[in-house]
Amino acid sequence: MIMRKRVLVTGAGGFIGHHLVKRLKAEGYWVRGVDIKQPEYEESDGDEFEVLDLRTFDNCMAATRGGIDQVYNLAADMGGIGYITASRADISRNNILINAQMLEASRLNAVSRFLFSSSACVYAQYKQRLPEVTPLREEDAYPADPEAGYGWEKLFTEELCRYYWQDHHFDTRIVRFHNVYGPLGTYEGGKEKAPAAISRKVALAWDGGDIDIWGDGEQTRSFMFVTDCVEGLLRLMASDYREPLNLGTDRLISINDLVDLVSTIAAKQLTKRHDLTKPQGVRGRNSDNSRLRQILEWEPSVSLEEGLTVTYRWIENELRYAGRLPHTLSARSAD
Ligand code: NAD
Repeated sequence: MIMRKRVLVTGAGGFIGHHLVKRLKAEGYWVRGVDIKQPEYEESDGDEFEVLDLRTFDNCMAATRGGIDQVYNLAADMGGIGYITASRADISRNNILINAQMLEASRLNAVSRFLFSSSACVYAQYKQRLPEVTPLREEDAYPADPEAGYGWEKLFTEELCRYYWQDHHFDTRIVRFHNVYGPLGTYEGGKEKAPAAISRKVALAWDGGDIDIWGDGEQTRSFMFVTDCVEGLLRLMASDYREPLNLGTDRLISINDLVDLVSTIAAKQLTKRHDLTKPQGVRGRNSDNSRLRQILEWEPSVSLEEGLTVTYRWIENELRYAGRLPHTLSARSAD
């Protein structure tokens, strides 16, 4: 009988982790999901789902028990730019505890491969001062000047993964995600990211009404649809590449243009109101995918138009179901 590979996904109650569990199950793996909370929008497909706080070492040992072959360590205290700039102490402490203890517990429980989810927030801020930013190559994380709190923790855990390989021959993979979006992700409450927040605001706005935007909207980013993200994760885990690797798209778009795209999908005409008191993060950020293409012989392919349509429709449906959508008359015709 062929033994199915046993996989642990931490953060399986969250956005990327939930999608990853689904995909791993579809590929025939045995999957345990662990999170401090259950998935919010649908049940987990995992063979097991355990609610555990991974800031506690015993819980990390319990999560990795029983012959787990691979760990996708996605659990993290994180959110959009408002959240990560307002909670630096908590985010740093929580994520240091989760990552340091998950690495050690995985090593002690003889896990054969461990994937750490890092972030484009590790990149040096002095290289991201212009909207028309040069795409970031993996070596642009040094000399270090990452996002305060969240980014420093991610950068140090990347180093910790290297030390575990050097000292213990514990095999790690390091992915640097660039803005992932899609359905079944948080879209309100302060932890949501730009595509979800914009989709919610557009869905809740009257046609002909206003929409609030953080900053002047000229800040730029690239965005990756969650199915591409999951495909990249499986490919990286299967590869023999142990250095940090970008996983994102290299299509740069301003937040103003992103709002226009979502408004077009929603068939609404909205006036942007820019709130310059709100944080906007770095001025520009894009992924250089040269190494991704070389190592994985692949790169994300879902277009922003396709991905945002699916995401917008899902958020709109959630709000409709909750009875929160505005009346279908436009603001002008309602006057
Ligand atoms: P998410 O917030 O939806 O998922 C993270 C999950 O971790 C949450 O469900 C949360 O409950 C769980 N968690 C937090 N503290 C925990 C604890 N003490 N014990 C157990 N579970 C805990 O975020 P996501 O977008 O799915 O991100 C997954 C990973 O990818 C994170 O490590 C994040 O830092 C990284 N990342 C994501 C993006 C993105 O655009 N989504 C970008 C860069 C990096």
